[in-house]
Amino acid sequence: MDSIWEAMLNAAKAVQNERKISDYVTAGEVAASILSKSGKIYTGVCIDTCSTLGICAERNAIFNMITNGENQISKVLAILTNGKTGAPCGACRELMVQLMPDTYKSIEIMLDYEKGKIITLGELTPEWWI
Ligand SMILES: [Zn+2]
Repeated sequence: MDSIWEAMLNAAKAVQNERKISDYVTAGEVAASILSKSGKIYTGVCIDTCSTLGICAERNAIFNMITNGENQISKVLAILTNGKTGAPCGACRELMVQLMPDTYKSIEIMLDYEKGKIITLGELTPEWWI
């Protein structure tokens, strides 16, 4: 397995920190790292709120990447609440497709770090609705 995945795992672990921010907001249960095409790693944590104002860790990391002037994703890794890596939800997949409609199928996603199982977004989302 490419060592960049280890760097991405460690980057996500470094920000995963479950905490209650207020009676209405919790954060950090899930953490994600995005490898941009330029080779930089961007991280994000999930933020859960009342009334669906929050955000998934993956989209938070993607927004972090966009905030820093990049918009092309190469790899995605998320650490779930059980400490294992897993697939992004439908909303996160949709954002990635809309960001990269012509090339999203090549985005690599770490499905199971322990087993080294990597899947592409094209395999997860073969037919886009638009
Ligand atoms: Zn999501």
